Amino acid sequence: MEPGSPGPARLGGPAGRRDRAGGATGRAARAGGAGGLPRGGARPGRGGEMSAGGDRLSRMRPAIKAGLLMVWRDPDTLQIGIDPRRAIALRGMRGAQALINLLDGSRDLGQVLAAAHELGISRQSAERVIGLLAAAGALHDFPAATVRALPAGPRDRLARELATVSLAHGHTDGGALVLARRQAASVRVHGTGLVASGLASLLTESGVGRVSCTGAAAEPPATGPQLSSWPPTGRVRLGHPAADGHPAADGHPAADGRPGAGQGTRGHGCRPDLAVLVDGYLPELPGSLVAAGVVHLTATASEAIGVVGPLVIPGQTACLSCVDMARTDRDPAWPLILAQVSGRAPQPAACAAVLAAAVAAQATAQALAFVDRAGPATAVINGTLELVLPDWQWRRHSWVPHRQCRCSRRPAS
Ligand SMILES: [Zn+2]
Repeated sequence: MEPGSPGPARLGGPAGRRDRAGGATGRAARAGGAGGLPRGGARPGRGGEMSAGGDRLSRMRPAIKAGLLMVWRDPDTLQIGIDPRRAIALRGMRGAQALINLLDGSRDLGQVLAAAHELGISRQSAERVIGLLAAAGALHDFPAATVRALPAGPRDRLARELATVSLAHGHTDGGALVLARRQAASVRVHGTGLVASGLASLLTESGVGRVSCTGAAAEPPATGPQLSSWPPTGRVRLGHPAADGHPAADGHPAADGRPGAGQGTRGHGCRPDLAVLVDGYLPELPGSLVAAGVVHLTATASEAIGVVGPLVIPGQTACLSCVDMARTDRDPAWPLILAQVSGRAPQPAACAAVLAAAVAAQATAQALAFVDRAGPATAVINGTLELVLPDWQWRRHSWVPHRQCRCSRRPAS
């Protein structure tokens, strides 16, 4: 069946509340109901030619973005995705289902057009529909080679990561670059207990190439619950062209010490791209990490309070000594208290399983933001995210580099 002529694809603004604020059409606002309308797509190109990125399209293996269901709002209007904050609605898609079924990333554009021709769909109509989908941001360049390089088990697991990253950040490569960065990264977890083991498992599940642990986190507890399987199964490593197997993701040094700068670990004893300090780490560790220029993140859960951050980029952001000095400014007894608690922990710790899971998940999310280079991880740069039970709402506390701390006088690495 030949797809109908696509009309203007724009049905309304973004989410419902913004529709109203943005003055969406009455028809769109009514049709959207309480949930609001999805984002509108793009206008069709002139003369039936693809309107968006024709050159790019000709080189890609087009696929409908992963992680989104397709539904029909009416016989002419296709909606891709359900939540209005992600969904796209396109008019003029009547009869286009057979063509859309071809957009699974297994064919390049020429092969899609040839297959469409065999289904009785003209090249002009097929190009018009694909152009609409591309202009609306509904297509990505399926990372077929990347996915084919994965073993079957990790492929299914990492497909979730790819779909999530692609949707969250609007990447057009299906998340392939982010996956490469994770695979090239090394993260070392220092500490013990549920938070450390949960963090290590989540990092591995998320595709981080090397996750190492120090302390008792490397051993399963003799009894009691675990956040997830430990040691993590299905550790994934993609093949890399460089001889050492763990090159920089993009081959360029990063000025801010981010992973991919060629400083990744080649073994357990080498310098990681990121260290995560969990309850139970050695008290002298933060100072040595600052001295060595290793980026590190803290994640703790005790006294029914979870704290994630700060993310310390030595020489650039507030370090743990800065935080202690700021506390000392408010409470002169803090250094004395700190000296007495060093190396001690209450037994049992007031760290319930769900609190540990929440802290491990938040810390993993912040670590991945750093590894992915998807954003500056601003939530934990010069700041901590804190969860004080019984309120399960994360709140941010700001810290600034302390004027008396030596960290700011160290050259940035
Ligand atoms: Zn400092």
